[in-house]
Amino acid sequence: MSAPIYQLQKYQASDYGIRPNDLSEAALCTIIELTQAGFQAYIVGGGVRDLLLGLHPKDFDIATDATPDQIKRIFGRQCQIIGRRFQLAHVYQGRQMLEVATFRAPHEEHSSQSQTSAHGMIVRDNIWGTIDQDALRRDFTVNAMYYQPQTGQILDFANGMQDVQSKTLRMIGDAATRYREDPVRMIRAARFAAKLGFELDAATAAPISHLAYLLKAISPHRLYDESHKMFSCGHLRILLQHLHEMGLFSSIFPLLKEDVINSRLVTLAAQNTDDRLQQGKSVNPAFFYAVLLWSWQQRLTQIELDKGEDIFPAYQAAGIKVLAQQSQHTAIPRFVAQTIRDIWDLQPRLEKPRSRVVPKLIIQPRFRAGFDFLLLRELSGDNRTHGMGNWWEHYQAVNTDEQEVLLRQLDKPKPKKKPKKAKKPSDEPSAS
Ligand code: ATP
Ligand code: MG
Repeated sequence: MSAPIYQLQKYQASDYGIRPNDLSEAALCTIIELTQAGFQAYIVGGGVRDLLLGLHPKDFDIATDATPDQIKRIFGRQCQIIGRRFQLAHVYQGRQMLEVATFRAPHEEHSSQSQTSAHGMIVRDNIWGTIDQDALRRDFTVNAMYYQPQTGQILDFANGMQDVQSKTLRMIGDAATRYREDPVRMIRAARFAAKLGFELDAATAAPISHLAYLLKAISPHRLYDESHKMFSCGHLRILLQHLHEMGLFSSIFPLLKEDVINSRLVTLAAQNTDDRLQQGKSVNPAFFYAVLLWSWQQRLTQIELDKGEDIFPAYQAAGIKVLAQQSQHTAIPRFVAQTIRDIWDLQPRLEKPRSRVVPKLIIQPRFRAGFDFLLLRELSGDNRTHGMGNWWEHYQAVNTDEQEVLLRQLDKPKPKKKPKKAKKPSDEPSAS
C-alpha cells in the first residue's frame, strides 16, 4: 500500500490563539533542552489537536529526531527508556512525566527491524525516520500535527487542520490496512469521536464492523489500559453507544450481554463518571467495572444460591468467577479486582444490616464506594436495595441522637403479614 500523498501545510500557532505558555512548563523545558542539544523537538498529537479545539490537553507528547539513547544522554537520570514493541523515552521534570518519541519510518521499508504478524499486525516498530515519515505513521490526520513553541510554527502533514475545522476523524492511509496493523486504532476511533464530538469519515468507519474481531489478538494488558482510557475520557456515555454501534463492545467484553449498555444502571453510572470528571474529580476504574459486570455477577450469584449456598459465599464465588473470566480479555490488575469484589460483597451487607454492624460497616475502607454503588442501584430502579441507599444517606447526614433512632428502626421486627398456621422451625437466613 503506497503512502497517501499530502502537501505539507505550515501555520502560525498564534493565528489560532496558541502560545508557548499554553504548554506545561515541563513540556516546554523538555523541548528547549532537546533543541539546545541540537535536535528537533515538537509537541505532537493530542496536545496540538486539543489546543486547536480550545480544549485542555490531557498531556503533551513530544516527538524528536533524537534516538532513545541520545535522549537518555541529554536527560541522564531524569530519563527512562521503556517499551519493546514501541520504544519510548520517559522524561521526568519534577513530578511530571513526558513521553518523548523518536520519529519513526514506515515499517514496511525495513522488514528486518519491524515485524508484522500473519494478520498484518505490527509487533515491532522501532525504525527511526524523518518527521514527514513519522507523521504518516500516526493514526488520524488530526493527530499528525507538530507544534514547535520556539518558532511558533505548526506543521500539518496530512490536512489535519482542515479536519479539525470540519470535525472529521479521518484515518491516514487505507483504513483497513491501518486497523490490521494495529486493531486498537478502532477503539481509538470510537474514543476520539466521543471525546471530540467528531464524525468518522465514511472510509474510516466502513471497515470497523468486519475487522472488530481482530481485537481478540490484542494483549489483555493493553486492552485493560484502553478500558481505563475509555472510562476516564470524560464522554463515556456517548463512547459506550459508539462502541456498541461499531460492533466493538463485544470484542472487549465478549461475555457481557450487549443490552447491558442500555441498562439504567450503566447509563446512570456512565453519566456520573463523566460528571465527576467535568467537576475535576477523580474516577476509579474499579467502580465502573463493578457496574458493567454487575448483572453477570448477579446471574452467577443466583446460580450459587440455587445450589444452596449462603448469600455471602455466593457473592464471593460469583465475583471471583466473573473477574477471572473478564480478565482473560482485559487484564484487570489484582488491586482493581479486589476493589470490585469489595464493592459487590458489600451490597448484601448494606441491603440488610443489623444495627450493631452499622458502625463497623461505615468505617470499612470500601464503604464509600459500596454505598455509592448501592445508591446508584436504587436510583436505577433496583428494588432489591429495599430503600437502604436512602437510609444510609440519611444515616450519614444526621446527628448521633437521630442515628440512634434510625438504628432502632433496623432491628424492629418486620410487621407480621398473615397469622401463621402451623409452627415450623424457622429457616430464615440471617443477614449479619
Ligand atoms: P489523548 O492523549 O488525548 O488520549 P492523543 O492523540 O495524545 O490523545 P496518545 O495515546 O497520547 O493520544 O498518543 C499520542 C499520539 O501518538 C497520537 O496523537 C497519535 O499521533 C500517535 N498514536 C498513538 N497511538 C497510536 C496508534 N495506535 N497508531 C498510530 N498512531 C498512534
Ligand atoms: Mg496524548
